[in-house]
Amino acid sequence: MSNKVILIILDGLKYESARDCMGYMQALCQGQQATLYQLECELPSLSRPLYEAVLTGTPPVQSGILHNHVSRNSTQTSIFSLARDAGLTTAAAAYHWVSELYNRTPYNPVRDRHTSDKEQLIQHGCFYHLDHYPDDHLFLDAEYLRQTYDPDFLLIHPMNIDDAGHKAGGDSSHYRNKVRHTDGILSDFIPQWLEQGYQILVTADHGMNGDNSHGGNLPEERQIPLFVMGQHFSHQQQCQPKQTELCGIACELLGINNHGKPVSEKLLATSKS
Ligand SMILES: [Zn+2]
Repeated sequence: MSNKVILIILDGLKYESARDCMGYMQALCQGQQATLYQLECELPSLSRPLYEAVLTGTPPVQSGILHNHVSRNSTQTSIFSLARDAGLTTAAAAYHWVSELYNRTPYNPVRDRHTSDKEQLIQHGCFYHLDHYPDDHLFLDAEYLRQTYDPDFLLIHPMNIDDAGHKAGGDSSHYRNKVRHTDGILSDFIPQWLEQGYQILVTADHGMNGDNSHGGNLPEERQIPLFVMGQHFSHQQQCQPKQTELCGIACELLGINNHGKPVSEKLLATSKS
């Protein structure tokens, strides 16, 4: 058993499609290796505000990251800052907005696309800036970071499901097939990570509506999945975690002080909390 955490944010994945289209993830649930919860994302249901909500535990109205074009560093403590300050190693394979929130802004691809700098909050990073950057490449970037730097906290953030939703809508075969494809990629990596004792969370920032967009209060925009895997989770069906509790939960799993971030205690095994 390990305290190392892998957090996967599948951009734009609505709950319904996670439940219905992810055969591998559901097989893990049926085999009692994973538990699926339904979360409601914070508002507005937009990417950059919700990266901040997940990674700092702060809702957009408090963080001030209210839309996608707020290009500044986060002012909140994050999983990255708390982990680095505790002497742990941080890494991310993620969209460039994540680099802008926690490392340097504006994103300069020549300087930032490949980051390895212990002074940065995200010490080891592979960042991308095209929404159709292939998910399978992104997972290989993440696996490179994991094998090379052995991070305690690794964020993996692919964009192709969101991209499919913007092109064809959340009710389309194109969108659902992209979800199925990403489920297949997960099955290439998760077995090995579980074998090595990682605590793994698979969630989304927001969902996707039938108008090829998101941002509002519709159930399909707000209802998102949370799959959890690993022995530090309680795997109790009864609890209802919140999106803003993921930061505190990650800190608990890493064994570091969560600095008062909200935590859904029921999500964690009692021996851990
Ligand atoms: Zn989007």
